[in-house]
Amino acid sequence: MNEEVLHAEVLVLGGGPGGYSAAFRAADLGKQVVLIERYPVLGGVCLNVGCIPSKALLHAAQIIHEVDEFESHGISYGKPSLDLPKIKAWKESITKTLNEGLAGLVKQRKVTLIHGTGQFTSPDTLAVNTEEGVKTIRFDQAIIAAGSHPTKIPIFPHDDPRLWDSTDALELKEVPKKLLIVGGGIIGLEMATAYHALGSEISVVELMDQIIPGCDKDLVTPLFRRIKKQYNNIWLDTRVKSIESHEEGLKVFFEGKGAPESEMFDAVLVAVGRRPNGKLISAELAGINVDEQGFIAVDKQQRTNVPHIFAIGDIVGNPMLAHKAVHEGKVAAEVISGLKSEFDALTIPSVAYTDPEVTWMGLTENQAKQQGIEYDKGVFPWAASGRSLCLGRKEGLTKIICEKETGRLLGAGMVGPNAGELISEAVLALEMGADAEDISLTIHPHPTLAETFGFAAEMITGTITDLYIKK
Ligand code: NAD
Repeated sequence: MNEEVLHAEVLVLGGGPGGYSAAFRAADLGKQVVLIERYPVLGGVCLNVGCIPSKALLHAAQIIHEVDEFESHGISYGKPSLDLPKIKAWKESITKTLNEGLAGLVKQRKVTLIHGTGQFTSPDTLAVNTEEGVKTIRFDQAIIAAGSHPTKIPIFPHDDPRLWDSTDALELKEVPKKLLIVGGGIIGLEMATAYHALGSEISVVELMDQIIPGCDKDLVTPLFRRIKKQYNNIWLDTRVKSIESHEEGLKVFFEGKGAPESEMFDAVLVAVGRRPNGKLISAELAGINVDEQGFIAVDKQQRTNVPHIFAIGDIVGNPMLAHKAVHEGKVAAEVISGLKSEFDALTIPSVAYTDPEVTWMGLTENQAKQQGIEYDKGVFPWAASGRSLCLGRKEGLTKIICEKETGRLLGAGMVGPNAGELISEAVLALEMGADAEDISLTIHPHPTLAETFGFAAEMITGTITDLYIKK
């Protein structure tokens, strides 16, 4: 094998949203950048086997449901006929368009892109195993953006193709008749939403006493109530003891309240979180500290314990979200380029693109209680939102939490169709230090779902006229 040695002012390991954003920002700031990506395309999990393809399937699911639900309002099209290969091709065409866009941005910025798997060989060198042989990159500074992988449960069978992770689920090879989802978190529930619309009978098993455990219960309840009617089972406080492969299906054994001792499924999706890839890059040869789980600790400037090596995204800690990684990637690139940047965002918003969508940012009400913070709460039910009713939906709500003494916004959450599009206003309000009065005096267009954020603030200021609050 021939060995080539290249030099990089900035080496970026990993071409997901965090990595390519870091590479592009560094290039825009005048650095000579080498970007390493093991797969043939850029975009990482998010673009290729995560956020983007799942949103395509979720849009398909939304259409199926809306058409179905509109029958009772006077429009019917009959039962949908599904052409799986065509849906799959459409989903892949979206990913391909974005892959090509990224490849174009790499060229425009003159970033050197090398496809291959990178491993550190010293604090200044990384070896990349490419199709043409090993390439060694000598770097001045590096940004690790090597991401995470789905958590596997060791006692489950691993060679049975009916046992899926999220990547398998997004391949859309088939629609199983009976699908069990292990893990009632964001991935599990988004995939449940998609496969239910495509025709699978869904069961969900969740270890904790609530789905999406990090979120306040009142925001999750409208989703729970809706899917409880749609799905075969949602078993909370329940764990999967074991799974056996049989010719006729996967036999799953449960332990917990309400769950049967065992049940047979045609496929099982395991979505119980993700693990960082810190142990897969020979970080020890560069002297980088990696903890037991595989996380790399960084300071506010994204710097690891090795001063010229930075790390961003899933590999530095939770939440494992693309928008967090992108922000961190820009900080690292800017610090490397001599700018006075640091990660000082007040919040990282969360969105579950389920139906209804669930979203929250800032302090949750649970956290406010745990921390003994005195707060005022404004909750506006979407049953009083004309726009929500026009969508045929009334289960949503918008909640805001403000500091009792100052009225300053501390946190907000929404549940309802398109809620994920509404949370950005709350994030901006938090970043700008807005209080309930600022939000209530901001004119929101009518009729929109967005105005429910203003109404929730009016519930605190006492100026609401869309509802009657008894004095
Ligand atoms: P998650 O942590 O959101 O949810 C995993 C769920 O599985 C939790 O509710 C947990 O209590 C449960 N669980 C854990 N072990 C279990 C077991 N043995 N049996 C039953 N339940 C068990 O993880 P995820 O849904 O796999 O997502 C992984 C990461 O990807 C998260 O960081 C998530 O935020 C991110 N992600 C985000 C989005 C989005 O922003 N829309 C979409 C997909 C993934």
